[in-house]
Amino acid sequence: MKSLCALAIGLSILGSGASLAQSVEPVDEGAIARIRDEGINRSQVMETAFWLTDRYGPRLNGSPEHEEAGEWVMERLRSWGVENLRKERFTSGRGWSLVSFHATMVEPRVMPLIGMPRAWTPGTTATVTADVVRPVINGAADAEAYRGQLRGRIVLTQPARQVRMLEYGDGFVVRYDDEGGRWRREALTPPVPADPATAPAPAPASASSPAVIPPPAFSLMQFYKDEGVAALFDYGAPSDMATGGSNLSWRHQRPDGGTLFVQSGASPYDDPLEGLPRITLAVEHYNRMVRLVERGVPVRVELNVGVRFHEESLSQPNGFNVIGEIRGTDKAEEIVLIGAHLDSWHGATGATDNASGVSVMMEVLRILRATGLRPRRTVRIALWGNEEGGVEGSGAYAAAHLGTTAQPKAELGTMAAYFNMDNGTGPIRGVWMQQNDRVAPIFQAWARPLTDLGVNLFSPRSVPATDHVPFDRLGVPAFQFVQERYEYTSRTHHSTMDFYDRLQPDDLKRNAVISAAFVWQAANREQPLPRREEVLP
Ligand SMILES: [Zn+2]
Repeated sequence: MKSLCALAIGLSILGSGASLAQSVEPVDEGAIARIRDEGINRSQVMETAFWLTDRYGPRLNGSPEHEEAGEWVMERLRSWGVENLRKERFTSGRGWSLVSFHATMVEPRVMPLIGMPRAWTPGTTATVTADVVRPVINGAADAEAYRGQLRGRIVLTQPARQVRMLEYGDGFVVRYDDEGGRWRREALTPPVPADPATAPAPAPASASSPAVIPPPAFSLMQFYKDEGVAALFDYGAPSDMATGGSNLSWRHQRPDGGTLFVQSGASPYDDPLEGLPRITLAVEHYNRMVRLVERGVPVRVELNVGVRFHEESLSQPNGFNVIGEIRGTDKAEEIVLIGAHLDSWHGATGATDNASGVSVMMEVLRILRATGLRPRRTVRIALWGNEEGGVEGSGAYAAAHLGTTAQPKAELGTMAAYFNMDNGTGPIRGVWMQQNDRVAPIFQAWARPLTDLGVNLFSPRSVPATDHVPFDRLGVPAFQFVQERYEYTSRTHHSTMDFYDRLQPDDLKRNAVISAAFVWQAANREQPLPRREEVLP
């Protein structure tokens, strides 16, 4: 049974002259109660997450492991009655898998090294035992001094980095309402519009530029390659604050202590024969070797890196999105799209980035099927490929299905909403509204039956850098949920410790319930969600 809960709060009336009739948003509380019962009492979200992480992780884009995870996802969705399942493919370069790895310092003492090869870098041809050196090269002139001295050696590419005590600073994990609600206030503050007067001047047109071809820049990588270096060691980002940013908990969770933040060391399109093995090490292990070498104590490391590359072809590209749907009823031609990226980095099993989002969005469909709720609009799921390589899968989908702003396809008009999940395991607190103030009173009404789950933060701000962006750009009402950050940025995101253990079961169950409630409301609303004002035709 549906019940109406009127939401005639100041925002909607004052906002853009909306009439009172428009501000009454129907909320299907009966359906939401059924969704809560199914999602909390019979949740499968952690079971899904187990398979995605422990069994099928990591899921590096383009690898056979990623492909297998996609097959498993389709089978599970099929078992829940999700229809029209398919992989939609796109070109994304060669894949890469780690086959073997060990690294041990053998002189002056034995020390097994905590490390992880960077993705898309080649392996060693066999186990090598090599001298470790620390050349300081800041340009072509410096390089000359080392010419002929690096063959068969392992290079420490960075200076030692300070490792600070964890006690320094305040607050372990900060939530939106902590510290007097500092984060909440920031989220609720509308973004300041860009001032054209202070915008950077556009680059001069190339036609008017003098036809001077600069000399080829010195390439340190090319120098190492030409000199026959055996492998390169690093410890990742140069600063111990690199994983902090707006996540205040970085003070206690620096990229130290054996957790590595490892991405790629080459592109999926680079020729592997042109590269060198590149390994990121725990900074403490790395620093020890720098200090020894700088005092003239010989350091030797035994190293074996085995990798496999996976070529793609035009007829079988490596990139894919998994698509499936629950067909709607009287508005079946309109689409409510939900999604999360299935690919992960290779250093762990991609638990919070982003098996959490995939498990939650899959659970939304399971809940709808298990409760027997039939949405009016078609609810389609898309589990994206190669988000980590630059939001490629969702971009390919948007281009193929929706076209561009200049050349839109018919399907663009059928897109009622898109909801994305890609911010870790933290509980949903609301929605980043992408500067679309028309959805504020609607979302606030939908959240009323979820208030006890802490859903009360509707930020006017836009957030970048994940799979809602290609849809947002086309004017589709496309959103990321606001989630508590917990230890996402500082400990799990792109790290070698992003394992199942970091997932918070109660939060993921709630996130599935909240997402399912929003999806249900979006699928059954009389009108599609309103689009942002400036992109209206
Ligand atoms: Zn990521």
